[in-house]
Amino acid sequence: MSTLTLNGVRKSFGALDVLQSIDLQLEDGEFLVLLGPSGCGKSTLLNIVAGLETPTAGEIFIGEKKVNDVHPKNRNIAMVFQSYALYPTMPVERNIGFGLEMRGVETDTRKRAVDGAARMLQVDHLLDRKPGQLSGGQRQRVAMGRAIVREPELFLFDEPLSNLDAKLRAEMRTEIKRLHNRLGTTVVYVTHDQIEAMTLGTRIAVMKGGVIQQLADPMTTYEKPANMFVAGFIGSPS
Ligand code: ADP
Ligand code: MG
Repeated sequence: MSTLTLNGVRKSFGALDVLQSIDLQLEDGEFLVLLGPSGCGKSTLLNIVAGLETPTAGEIFIGEKKVNDVHPKNRNIAMVFQSYALYPTMPVERNIGFGLEMRGVETDTRKRAVDGAARMLQVDHLLDRKPGQLSGGQRQRVAMGRAIVREPELFLFDEPLSNLDAKLRAEMRTEIKRLHNRLGTTVVYVTHDQIEAMTLGTRIAVMKGGVIQQLADPMTTYEKPANMFVAGFIGSPS
């Protein structure tokens, strides 16, 4: 079954056409990377899937359900951004469990879910700390923990590692890969970083000017780039 389907999705801001006509179909468990330079429309596309932006045209399905008119809260997705937006006054435990708390999940169940996610992300020794007492990498893990406990149908990541230094980025890449292998949840992951795309993606959609230039697995993208832009951006041998 496909987890995410986009049919002819377009987006304009006034006279600016940001997404031309995007068609996509993601199977269960895929890790799709949206790769492209700054301003090509990656975040806009992700925000449309999340329901944070309304498309100018086109349809969005999550599973079998058309979600164009479904509120972001009811889309069964979880989003992780580069700015972690943790609640500064709440300890890690409550930050991770906050979505469940809002949903009215009872304390015991919530605690089990939070403990499980915290262990998986190796922040279980930090549950009593406030976000201000954490390193950047630890904060990013907490943000991912908060997404995981909600057991979404779809994870959306928007450049989650771009604020981290190179060493931590490499470490978090491995962490995200491990999580995906373990949970098997479908992912759409936005980045402008070729290494992230090549190491994480089961498929890569290379974007330029609101158009998907090529949608293929990493090896094909590298070895048989569809055009000069893809070749240049991926760094394929010419
Ligand atoms: P990316 O994430 O690939 O860097 P974005 O999706 O953020 O690109 O932006 C694509 C284009 O749309 C950019 O030219 C940006 O300036 C424009 N844009 C994004 N959001 C808005 C908005 N709310 N209003 C007007 N223009 C926007
Ligand atoms: Mg962006």
